Amino acid sequence: MPLVNLSVLLRAAEEGGYAIGGFNIQNLEMLQAVARAAAEEGSPVVLQFNPANIRYIGMEYAAALGLVAARLARVPVAVHLDHGADFAQAAAAVRAGFTSLMYDGTPFPLDQNIAVTQRVCELAHAVGVAVEGELGQMGGVEEGVFVAEGLGTMTDPDEAVRYAAETGVDALAVAVGNQHGTSVERLDMERLSAIRAAVGLPIVIHGGSGLPDEVIREAVQRGVRKFNVATQLNQGFLEGFLRVAHERPGETNPRAPLEAGRDGVVAAVRAKMRVFGSSGRA
Ligand SMILES: [Zn+2]
Repeated sequence: MPLVNLSVLLRAAEEGGYAIGGFNIQNLEMLQAVARAAAEEGSPVVLQFNPANIRYIGMEYAAALGLVAARLARVPVAVHLDHGADFAQAAAAVRAGFTSLMYDGTPFPLDQNIAVTQRVCELAHAVGVAVEGELGQMGGVEEGVFVAEGLGTMTDPDEAVRYAAETGVDALAVAVGNQHGTSVERLDMERLSAIRAAVGLPIVIHGGSGLPDEVIREAVQRGVRKFNVATQLNQGFLEGFLRVAHERPGETNPRAPLEAGRDGVVAAVRAKMRVFGSSGRA
């Protein structure tokens, strides 16, 4: 039971009126931290790896890490490829054992985005794997991920209807003022509701680190069912790691700073789960 398809988590979130966190994993300590936070909060969770994480860890290692965490967990876990770059990477993730994929076709014209996303859905759905698609172009900064100039291009509700119908995606990531890795004070809530009403799919917001708690809560009320969080995990890890590394300049074993980094991530993830409303829902 603990390893699930993302759609299972999204359906439960839909029924319960909350959102799931998709937490980006860079190393073993961050993986353990997210798993521990999920256990302590009693929260379902998405362990996810973007192309930069995959380049660093390796596809097979990433899948193995996620799958072990799911096997040991008592809460439902999806192992997700974040910002999959192309069809080949999606296929490699499926073969490695991921239970959920994002394909990010936003750098390409709409027709091309739809065509590749449709093929990814066909492949994934044939083997019980869920797909998150994206429409619109987000700004901000994320290593290894295409980002638009300036504020980017917001998702158009009419285009979203066509995209959802022609691709068959299980969830839709949107650009409504959210930015990767950057703090944003508000989202275009009217647009968010219009997209949600038009497509009827669970909505995904990337750039969850930089959003105020009250904005997150309102977005959940309007149908956001998954938030991606990366920057806050990186900050939590580095704060703990660097603090201990500086406190102990003569230290010859990396375990103490790594452990402090891990603790920093646990705190960041637990706080997010409470705002998303996923605590106690496992
Ligand atoms: Zn993203």
